[in-house]
Amino acid sequence: MTHTTPSVDLQALMADLKVLTDLESPSTDPAAIQHVMDVVEGWARDLGAETHALGGGTRVFHFGVQPGATERPILVLTHADTVWPRGTLDSMPWRVDGQRLHGPGTYDMKAGIVGLFHALRALQGQWPRGGVTVLLSPDEEIGSPSSRDHIERAAHEARVALVVEPPVADTHALKTGRKGTGSYLLTFTGVASHAGNKPGEGASAITAAAHATLELQALARPDEGTTVSVGLIRGGSAVNVIPAHATLEIDLRVSTLAEADRVDAAVRAWTPRDPRVTVQVAGGLNRPPFEQGAGTLALFEQAREVARELGFDLTHTVVGGGSDGNFTAPIIPTLDGLGAPGDGAHAQHEHVRLDRWPDHVRLLTELLRRV
Ligand SMILES: [Zn+2]
Repeated sequence: MTHTTPSVDLQALMADLKVLTDLESPSTDPAAIQHVMDVVEGWARDLGAETHALGGGTRVFHFGVQPGATERPILVLTHADTVWPRGTLDSMPWRVDGQRLHGPGTYDMKAGIVGLFHALRALQGQWPRGGVTVLLSPDEEIGSPSSRDHIERAAHEARVALVVEPPVADTHALKTGRKGTGSYLLTFTGVASHAGNKPGEGASAITAAAHATLELQALARPDEGTTVSVGLIRGGSAVNVIPAHATLEIDLRVSTLAEADRVDAAVRAWTPRDPRVTVQVAGGLNRPPFEQGAGTLALFEQAREVARELGFDLTHTVVGGGSDGNFTAPIIPTLDGLGAPGDGAHAQHEHVRLDRWPDHVRLLTELLRRV
């Protein structure tokens, strides 16, 4: 290595993470999310960043980015929201248990934000060519409705994207691909009638929803990474009424855009057997698949080399869950999972591994230097 291994202060990492964790920030609470962003923006300003607040609550921090420069920056994606409602700290408090640091939103992804800023500080103002753009999203956990456009625009202006979502649970595995995710809401409207006296005059919305459930789930191709699951179904008004109303909601995961198109066309073309029942389809693909590309694998090889020098083995895999990396991967090489190791995203046992975290901060620091 041309640089000495960056020193990482675990106590300082923990102190910064405590500050962000104490500021509970569910996706549905913009004011709480802005408080987290204010703290992070303060860290960015201390490092000399140029900061911008964008529409919808997204913030962007530029470190050594020169407008109009020929070399484009590294884009780093972060999010300030968590899946945990306010008050979760009462039942799931900040707690250190051996090498595990527990708390809501720690692993996903406040420790990723903290590790990133320690990595940026370790660069001591020696920004990589083109500089670094950090984007802080307010709504990643609900599919990034307000930040998606900003993320895609930033990707078009950058050369690579690094995502500080956590590595795969309880491993040193980075994420070099993610499934695309979609959802559909199907609303069925039939004809109500007395179930005992005049069943033939009714047209059951529930029967149509049941057929749709079986036939649309059959579109799954697990071998190709396509899963289709009806996760919610509702309908009817009373047990003795042929039901005029039903809804169902579908969760879709795909590994390729071709599969997304195939399933989307089939969902939209589906028609009830009883012509008196109508169906309305809402929804579609939310995040495109993050297909594992050559540029991403080359980034991973750089990361693996750094990890080897730091004394640990890095692996990579494709995962089912989406992230904001799904929006940048179709535009620029994207390496995801560069946050803090641990386990329990969106679960009661959410925690960061204190014995492994400093290594991943060193990894990110060196990667920012070399990419
Ligand atoms: Zn996350």
